[in-house]
Amino acid sequence: MDKAEKSTWIKNPLKVWTGNQLGSTHSADGGIVVSGDRIVELVPQGATPTRNIHNTLDASGCVVMPGLINCHHHFYQTLTRAFPSALNKELFDWLVSLYPVWANLTEEAISISSELALTEMLLSGCTTAADHHYVFSDKTQNAIDRQVEAAEKVGMRVLLTRGSMSLGKDEGGLPPNEVVQTADKILQDSERLINAYHQQHAGAMVQIALAPCSPFSVTTDLMRDSASLARKHGVQLHTHLAETEDENAFCLDMFGLRPLDYLESVGWLSDDVWLAHGIHFNDQEIARLGKAKTAISHCPSSNMVLASGLCPAKDLQRAGSPVGLGVDGSASNDCSNLMQEVRQAFMLQRLKYGSSEFTHTDALHLGTKGGAELMRRTDIGELAVGKQADIAMFSLDEARFAGAGDPLAALVLCGAHRAEHVMVNGEWRVSHGELVSGDLTSLIEKQRAVAVALAS
Ligand SMILES: [Zn+2]
Repeated sequence: MDKAEKSTWIKNPLKVWTGNQLGSTHSADGGIVVSGDRIVELVPQGATPTRNIHNTLDASGCVVMPGLINCHHHFYQTLTRAFPSALNKELFDWLVSLYPVWANLTEEAISISSELALTEMLLSGCTTAADHHYVFSDKTQNAIDRQVEAAEKVGMRVLLTRGSMSLGKDEGGLPPNEVVQTADKILQDSERLINAYHQQHAGAMVQIALAPCSPFSVTTDLMRDSASLARKHGVQLHTHLAETEDENAFCLDMFGLRPLDYLESVGWLSDDVWLAHGIHFNDQEIARLGKAKTAISHCPSSNMVLASGLCPAKDLQRAGSPVGLGVDGSASNDCSNLMQEVRQAFMLQRLKYGSSEFTHTDALHLGTKGGAELMRRTDIGELAVGKQADIAMFSLDEARFAGAGDPLAALVLCGAHRAEHVMVNGEWRVSHGELVSGDLTSLIEKQRAVAVALAS
């Protein structure tokens, strides 16, 4: 009997949160059955599966939920966490401190930092991650190829974006000239990567998107040409937008337009686009984003660290925009823990909307189905029959949860940060809090050595 025919019953859970409307009916509290790479049965409380079961996993003491989805990251930045010269700065000064360091990245550094970032997320219950890699120098021509290899090694689902910077300091942009590329080179490599790696089928493990870095680091022509190329191949578009007031000022000065007007002028106000941050929009701009169904990745930790502001997540959702959650790069977070990010969103959004208007399930939604909607995927982000078997389980057998009442609320309120078991695409990748394959100790050692070399 091959793997596709074998069924695993995740049984006796403390609580199952499906991440969809079924979640409120407790209809899966008897557990979940997985066969191959799919969920094939939700078992009601007190019932047993209707099919033959070959393996069981005892989920006693665990909350079972959909694997978390990360919508914005820069994996390489795990090499510059808490970087001394970038501490206590706001975005533009922070970037100027770090660009020269990132200019020295090598492909080996990309491989190791990507594996480390993915592993860190996996251990936090994340099963799908987007990355925005935009630093390409002569030493990192094949950065995205290295990231694909790292994702395959860790066993996570990824949406890797071919980022770009084409507006160097000499042309009025922010980045130094050694990390900008010509538009031709960028577009050629983008098309190569789409053809080589982008999967369109349900259950895709690797997808590619195109991601000019930001209005202050690429030319207007590259924004337009990237959109044409993405639409030719049916891949998504991504960029940073409306992160800071400085960016508003830059866009008004450079283009005579606010960031969203600029976005619209280059053909990007569309449902195939997702934006990182989305903080400094006015009401009329939120309505336009919602009407276009342009998606937003809310990055609460980064926004607080860099004091950028507060994304109006609920207003954007009400207007019609999908909203997901991103840890952002690890130089502005400075960790890659998606369950902690759910808690950060929960707390930050409450400051804006009040404690009854932003619940723990609202926060969990951002980290699951909200992310799937942002990625335009219907096969992940919830626990339902026919969906991909991407599952995160959190044990409440820890001091921080002792005495908790509502197990699902406890994950957010008590600060869950480490998954007990994680399944991606039907494969167990974390078991009892440890990686099923891979040597974490040696990976951390390699990462440290690369970080030291990069800083020197
Ligand atoms: Zn970012």
